Amino acid sequence: MKINISVLTLLLSATLFLSSCVSVQVSENTLSQTQTLSDQKKPKNIILLIGDGMGLSQVSAAIYYKDGVPNFERFNTIGLSKTSSGSDLVTDSAAGATVFSTGVRTYNGAIGVSMDTTAVSTIVETLSKDGYSTGIVSTSSIQHATPASFYAHVKRRNMYEEITEFAPHSGIDFFAGGGLQFFTKRKDNRNLLNDMEEAGYTVITDQLPIQNIDGKELILLADDSMPKMSEGRGDFLPNATQLALDKLSKNEKGFFLMVEGSQIDWGGHDNDADYLIEELLDFDKAIGVALDFAKKNGETLVIVTADHETGGFSLSSDGKDYNKINPTFSTPGHSATMVPVFAEGPGSFLFNGIYNSTEIYFKMMKAFGR
Ligand SMILES: [Zn+2]
Repeated sequence: MKINISVLTLLLSATLFLSSCVSVQVSENTLSQTQTLSDQKKPKNIILLIGDGMGLSQVSAAIYYKDGVPNFERFNTIGLSKTSSGSDLVTDSAAGATVFSTGVRTYNGAIGVSMDTTAVSTIVETLSKDGYSTGIVSTSSIQHATPASFYAHVKRRNMYEEITEFAPHSGIDFFAGGGLQFFTKRKDNRNLLNDMEEAGYTVITDQLPIQNIDGKELILLADDSMPKMSEGRGDFLPNATQLALDKLSKNEKGFFLMVEGSQIDWGGHDNDADYLIEELLDFDKAIGVALDFAKKNGETLVIVTADHETGGFSLSSDGKDYNKINPTFSTPGHSATMVPVFAEGPGSFLFNGIYNSTEIYFKMMKAFGR
């Protein structure tokens, strides 16, 4: 994927124009940092969107490869998160998500457990018990490291069948993603869809419904992960996000929704810029859905961040041609670079600054007044 000079000139002038707007907003944010949450309205709802493997170059790709202004530019509060895990300078997605769900810095591969493998209750479990509605939407399987870390507690991320056993009693009202095989094609020959139905879930495996069904929903549209954008996933992520919001927002007490753009990471691991960028632009659409909802609703905090960066991705010049971008990678693995945190809505000022990824959990809980 290359970019031509006229588009780039346009984009650069647009960026310069936008940066002049941003400087005003930054000073407003500085003022708001002196405020405390008691001065401000607390959010009733939180939507946490995780772009797996999404560093600043990945976000920047939205500027150069999206027709129109990326939804990322609608945020007024921006922070940076330091992502190292309890065991390694470079985190993996399991430790990277467990830190968001529990506030505990743990070892790479850990799902909802601390360094000594003790289960730690997650934000989803805590809020579900307290009467909030909760939801998980992912373009991987719902047992994959990021979503699993919000409802399961296992020693190793690849224990997919064990992770699935946590789903029936997770308290989660809305699941959408892949992972059907871990319910139905198991070594123990059990069919855990029966357990889900007994726990009050309606199980849907053909397509995303247009409207919500009453009660808890388990929507599993692939045996393992959802297809890539290039293989026909379509608008699953933005549409499932909208469906989740329609359902969860019926709860007067409030809700917590986690939405993961899982395959930005996989494009990074494959060092495949087209794959990465298509997934990133799809994630940007889901961000738009969340922000549109929050704007209308007025009581919703939207947070967008990443667990880590993947690929050592960069938007390099094409050799000496500075009018062409040649996306490049420096590793097939993850990197230790800081990742951006975007926040909008009541309590968003808490997310200004540079902090450890552990803080994101505590900031969310603080925003909820806990
Ligand atoms: Zn990850």
